[in-house]
Amino acid sequence: MKKIFWSVVASMLMVACGTANKSQSEEEKVVSIEFSADSAYNYCAAQCQYGPRTMNSEAHEKCGEWIAEQFKKYGCEVELQKADLKGYDGTMLKSTNIIARSPKSDKPRIMICAHWDSRPWADNDPDEANWKKPVMAANDGASGVAVMLELARLLQQNDSAAVAVDFICFDAEDWGMPQWEDDTDADSWALGSQYWAEQYAAGSERPYEYGILLDMVGGQSATFYREAFSMHYASNIVDKVWQAASAAGYGSYFPAKDNGGITDDHVAVNQKAGIPCIDIINHYPDCEQSNFGPTWHTVSDDMQHIDKNTLQAVGQTLIQLLFSR
Ligand SMILES: [Zn+2]
Repeated sequence: MKKIFWSVVASMLMVACGTANKSQSEEEKVVSIEFSADSAYNYCAAQCQYGPRTMNSEAHEKCGEWIAEQFKKYGCEVELQKADLKGYDGTMLKSTNIIARSPKSDKPRIMICAHWDSRPWADNDPDEANWKKPVMAANDGASGVAVMLELARLLQQNDSAAVAVDFICFDAEDWGMPQWEDDTDADSWALGSQYWAEQYAAGSERPYEYGILLDMVGGQSATFYREAFSMHYASNIVDKVWQAASAAGYGSYFPAKDNGGITDDHVAVNQKAGIPCIDIINHYPDCEQSNFGPTWHTVSDDMQHIDKNTLQAVGQTLIQLLFSR
């Protein structure tokens, strides 16, 4: 990821103001099921143990198999959606979207998603000598999948959720055009989700009421702002999630503040698949290195910089959402 389109912010301001008061008037019962940050942390570390999961690498292949096995263990039926996708530089990327479906049920169905590939170049590293090194992607990749795996584990143990959840691990998100190129190309990012959304649009089934994308949900001192595409396409889902955060006691991680639009996997889910989908993505308003945080696309995006408190805040918020009626 990802570029920010600041122009979208201005046009979204009206929408944001119009919905700001709703969460205060509605009280929500606290869900007692506990998201385990330790467990999520371990899922994150397990992915990193394979090394950077860059496209076409052995670490990528092996970690993909591991992720699929975990979801199967938690009762999901797993489909590996394989495709050869062309990177901006012409590289053929062996992409696998890992689609983990929970058992059939009469409940409304939603999708939670995250990308699982690592960026091949640390092109935002303060040291130029690191730009062509791969990113471990503990936060920018593994953290989202880790939270999803912990949710899958808890959903298998507790059948009282209000919704059925499918988990989609998108591939080839982070092969986007590096900063050393003179050009930018928004379409060079999020190739796996673009492919998935095209297949979804071409198919006849429409199972999902809405979607939630998790991206960089384990960073130290992270906060999550209301992202502009999410507000544009699915402001009611943003409201629900921010309200759940507040009810679960993690409102400070989810301030009622707006961010620009971000090129991420949820864009294709909204625009190509037509599913209202929000992006829970970290935002560091005061970070000079990047508003995506100090480790974003650097060689420091490793397990040393993963914060269990952030995993807990995001995970417990989602538990609150999924188990509230
Ligand atoms: Zn990235």
